[in-house]
Amino acid sequence: MKKIISLILVSFLSFSFIIVKAEDDFDSNRDYYIEMCSKPDSQKTNEEVATCNAFMKHMASQSSALNKQLLEIESKREEISSNIKVYAEKIRGYDSQISVLRKEINSLNNEISIKEDEIQLKEEEIVAQQEEIDALKEKLKERMVNSQKTMKINQYLDVIIGAKDFNDLIRRTNGINDILNYDQASLDQMAYLIEQLNIAKDALEVAKSELDSKKQDVVNKQNTLLVYRQEAETVRQEYLKKEAELEAEGNKIAGNLEAIKNTMTEIASKLVEIAASSGFARPVSGGRVSAGTWYYPASFGGGVHLGMDIAAPSGTNVVAVGNGVILKSADGCGAGYLGNTCGGNIGGSSGGGNQVYLLTNINGSLYAVKYLHLLAGTPIATGTIVSAGDRVGAIGTSGNSTGSHLHIEVFYLGSGTIANYAQNWNGDLAFGASWGYSALNRLCENGIGAPCRIKPESVFGG
Ligand SMILES: [Zn+2]
Repeated sequence: MKKIISLILVSFLSFSFIIVKAEDDFDSNRDYYIEMCSKPDSQKTNEEVATCNAFMKHMASQSSALNKQLLEIESKREEISSNIKVYAEKIRGYDSQISVLRKEINSLNNEISIKEDEIQLKEEEIVAQQEEIDALKEKLKERMVNSQKTMKINQYLDVIIGAKDFNDLIRRTNGINDILNYDQASLDQMAYLIEQLNIAKDALEVAKSELDSKKQDVVNKQNTLLVYRQEAETVRQEYLKKEAELEAEGNKIAGNLEAIKNTMTEIASKLVEIAASSGFARPVSGGRVSAGTWYYPASFGGGVHLGMDIAAPSGTNVVAVGNGVILKSADGCGAGYLGNTCGGNIGGSSGGGNQVYLLTNINGSLYAVKYLHLLAGTPIATGTIVSAGDRVGAIGTSGNSTGSHLHIEVFYLGSGTIANYAQNWNGDLAFGASWGYSALNRLCENGIGAPCRIKPESVFGG
């Protein structure tokens, strides 16, 4: 009995060992098993039939796991893009509030400069009136001094000259009965002028206080503007983070991977013939680097930016940077806008718009190059063999883009061959070099081996 038990135990252990070994084997020798299992059962040994059943089960479980993963990615992607829509709306809201405030501040500044002109005129008027009054006083004083004998009002002279306003003057001159009619007229005129002067001074005070309150208004509105700007900035940064997350999800698996594999298998013999190029060709002739790699400039929110942006007019040729094959091409997005996620829906990177992925051999090393935001209708087809300088598409502004530009990323993939890589590619649109913030851990410049991200500026120039 003991012997039988140990025999069963031994056969059970060795059986499960075979299965475990086969599971590993199924993945690394997939092509071998596909060929073996494609034979009719009549030509297989019993052992082969059992192995093929296990292989089929393994493949089925893998594909259902992959489908589940794709569904999860899809729902996460939807959640993130709806968040992004909210952020983009918030930013638009802040932008419009900021532009209303700017207009208000401009018109207040205009009013202030009009007020300031008005005040200056009033001040000049007051000076002139004051001069007129002084001249009149002087004239009156002279006359009074000259006709002291008849007028007998010398003692009142200073009293009259010192009058502050009309009522004061009347009060002060009431007692003087023997004043001459001629001088009475001058006194009346002086009284009138003093009254006008006081009115002008009051108006000046009102204008000055209005000016102060308008200036305070401008200060308040500028403070509000700053608050809005800061809030918009915070939202923008949050948005860029979400954007990176979305790109991460969008990058995981290229759509229609099976079709790509079939294409690459069909052109396998041509892939082998592609000659290595010497050096990187420029992807766009002319153009201007509008944003550099790894981070956006602080004015853009400073978020992670995994490629170089080259701004150029819509329709400008975008060319292959080396000899190779178009590993993946996606087309069908119209002109985009900030927050547009078009790209994922056509099997490419989310937000990347119309895109092309070139696999190339330069100086004996393997590279993948990602071209985003191309003009609709221009990306050349998956499986096209290209030479350095051949057109792969044209500059556009599809996907998450606010103006005509090319976003280009470069991946170093080691020393393998184009043919081998193309036929075994797993569909990862970041080629194993990660995306979003975690991509910053896979930069070739930090001594990370393949697959790693190359700063485009280092091969194309800033
Ligand atoms: Zn970019």
